[in-house]
Amino acid sequence: MHANIVVLPGDGIGPEIVSATLPVLEAVAARYGHTFAFQEHDIGGIAIDRHGEPLPAATLAAAQKADAVLLGAVGGPKWSDPNAKVRPEQGLLAIRKGLGLFANLRPVRPHPAALGASPIKSELLAGVDIVVVRELTGGIYFGDKTRSATDATDLCRYSVAEIERVVRSAATLARQRRGHLTSVDKANVLETSRLWRDVTARVMREEFPEVTIEHQLVDSMAMHLLSKPRAYDVIVTENMFGDILTDEASMLAGSLGLLASASLGAGKVGIYEPIHGSAPDIAGKGIANPYATILSAAMLLRHSLGLEAEAAAIEAAVSAALDAKVFTADLAAPGQAANTAQAAQAVIARLG
Ligand code: NAD
Repeated sequence: MHANIVVLPGDGIGPEIVSATLPVLEAVAARYGHTFAFQEHDIGGIAIDRHGEPLPAATLAAAQKADAVLLGAVGGPKWSDPNAKVRPEQGLLAIRKGLGLFANLRPVRPHPAALGASPIKSELLAGVDIVVVRELTGGIYFGDKTRSATDATDLCRYSVAEIERVVRSAATLARQRRGHLTSVDKANVLETSRLWRDVTARVMREEFPEVTIEHQLVDSMAMHLLSKPRAYDVIVTENMFGDILTDEASMLAGSLGLLASASLGAGKVGIYEPIHGSAPDIAGKGIANPYATILSAAMLLRHSLGLEAEAAAIEAAVSAALDAKVFTADLAAPGQAANTAQAAQAVIARLG
């Protein structure tokens, strides 16, 4: 197949991890007879510097025409003045909105070779394979806000349609995996959560009878995620709960440098990016871990291009590189670290 992929390196280590990932995609294309055309555009801090805005119109227009978007990371000290009119992160929110993306998928599958890097006991981590699906466009982050000298409010709002579409995405994923969906809410206190629970129960009963559904309160979920992470398959939740639980879940995997993500909507186009930020403390040194971005590229092949075998080949190659202890500095013993390019080459060398 031929696919047009928009590439948004962004800031800090973004350009390093993205340029390490493109040769992996090229190698997969060559092996499986595909052609991928990469078109690079600016987002984040670099876009503010060059164009005065974090999401230039040309970037959004290219993304809207593309089959998929691969993103590095945005932000850094240069643009982090809290009083600044434009901030790099606004570019991320704007591009997700512009592409109509409402579901953020974060797989967490701790690798046996990296279990020691997690603060959680290894015996709890073996066999963990979770995908957290976070709703991206609604809830308290986007509700009306007020502020006076003596108080402040944030409105939390969800519509039936917003809940239905993200639950359908998560349930479809659960059906392709182990057939178990956990929906997380705070239905004992919040009206939006009671609506969330009612809508989820109905969608699951009417449309996904073969997927088992379990409802969990967010506070107990925060405990279960660490005490019995193997019990979960797909977890779906609203925006703020998802923001917190996905960061908690990331601790299961040992390093931020191993965790990929996808932001999806109703169509095929999605944004694929590592969950970590622009790591300004190590930017420009060529030592960042590229695996999370390479695994994000695998998700791109799976979810936007429908290339399951190719996605699985990349995942297996990353796994084999980790088995061979090709670790970047975030995971390696002192003096034994591979650099970014060496880690990416190790993946290419192991593509089946
Ligand atoms: P960060 O994820 O950039 O870094 C946290 C720590 O993890 C740092 O010590 C960093 O060196 C390390 N790290 C992160 N990715 C790594 C990798 N691939 N390999 C090796 N080590 C890695 O988080 P931060 O320091 O809180 O934020 C830095 C900047 O990134 C901020 O401007 C923040 O706003 C931005 N940010 C962007 C995104 C995004 O683009 N989606 C997400 C989070 C933070």
